[in-house]
Amino acid sequence: MTEDIISISTLMICTFLSTMVVGIFMLQVWLTDRRHAAAGYWCLAMWVGSACTLLYAMRPIGYPLLTVGAANMLTALGYALMWAGFRVFERRPVYMMVVAAGPVLWSLGYLFVPAITENVNNRIILSSVIITAYSVWIGLDLWRGRGGQRLPSRTMSAIFFLSHGIIYSLRIPMAIVSPAPLGNGTAHSAWFALFSLELFAHTILAAIAMLVLIKERGEALYRQASRTDALTGIANRGSFFEDTRFHLAGGNDGTLMIFDLDRFKAINDTHGHVAGDTVLKCFAARISASLEEGMLFCRFGGEEFALFAPRHNISRAELFAERLRQEVAALTVLSEGREIGVSVSIGLADVATFGTDFDRLHSAADGALYAAKEAGRNRVMRAAPAAMLSGFAGRMFKPAAHPNGVAFAG
Ligand code: GH3
Ligand code: MG
Ligand code: MG
Repeated sequence: MTEDIISISTLMICTFLSTMVVGIFMLQVWLTDRRHAAAGYWCLAMWVGSACTLLYAMRPIGYPLLTVGAANMLTALGYALMWAGFRVFERRPVYMMVVAAGPVLWSLGYLFVPAITENVNNRIILSSVIITAYSVWIGLDLWRGRGGQRLPSRTMSAIFFLSHGIIYSLRIPMAIVSPAPLGNGTAHSAWFALFSLELFAHTILAAIAMLVLIKERGEALYRQASRTDALTGIANRGSFFEDTRFHLAGGNDGTLMIFDLDRFKAINDTHGHVAGDTVLKCFAARISASLEEGMLFCRFGGEEFALFAPRHNISRAELFAERLRQEVAALTVLSEGREIGVSVSIGLADVATFGTDFDRLHSAADGALYAAKEAGRNRVMRAAPAAMLSGFAGRMFKPAAHPNGVAFAG
């Protein structure tokens, strides 16, 4: 009865139309932005899927080599291309052996194993093994990708594919326990009709999932670009403000450090702007490599950088900043065969003394930096509490001190 209500041919025509349309959208996505290489694979997968569903729909007419043999081979190829697209999407290697495995396995079985050529239930078993393998693999890759870039629809898509793989695999015991008879050139039974309906629903869901994932990936890339400094690849001023303010709003302890490379204009003038850029990149990489868990670091602009060290009181932050200063002073940047020496001055202001207002903290750290420059550069200075009470001119800044009381000096 169910098999009479659900027309397999009509389902296949609907699948054909939807995969055609999604294929066009995928092509458009891929042509617009070639970084979305996955969309190229998915476009092909959709159109291969269109071709095979059209062939399935023609089964009542006959031509089994085409409507059974080639159609199932194209189904395997469609899933293989979908798998390849998800591998590219998750930045994992695509193995051509795996892409070829499904279509080749089906073709060999259909052409050379009479039990498969002649028996619709054996054909269902073979194609179910292939489709299940690709679907579960896609689901697992998506599931594993959750640890990387956050994409809201990834988990749901992983569940779509894993559940589809599991449901598809149930065709195997059904074909053994309750073999479907042939009718209209295809398997004609209630369970086969229901599984075909699930296949149609999954094709639509998979197509939507792919389009949404591509959109979310695009948004994530733009979001990341808007938060990143183009030259150094570290956070930019805007994202630093946002993250530090968020931290400060929690009323937590911490210290703000402002870095300014010493006599950087002279580096540009002596070695050229490109060498200056290389110095900025090396400096950012050096500091980034030394950051502790939870620290925020950004390029403020020009040769000025900022670091917020949560949970660091002023003494701990001073020790940390001094270590960074020494690391930078020991740095030799190579540019076009020339060695360039670098040094940095650092101004510090802590939340315990200056409160959680970012502007006040920034202004105090900036004042300390100015004092470090005045005192001869290549040193760490902290803003003293008096800076809070008097105006800028009257501020007091203390050279950061070693535990043994010796002032840091360049
Ligand atoms: P001080 O020790 O007092 O900080 O001296 P300084 O030379 O570092 O400071 P100044 O403000 O006089 O010069 C900063 C220079 O940084 C001037 C500007 O051309 C250069 N600069 C700013 N942004 C970039 C950049 O993106 N690349 C390069 N190569 N230079 C930059
Ligand atoms: Mg400067
Ligand atoms: Mg400078």
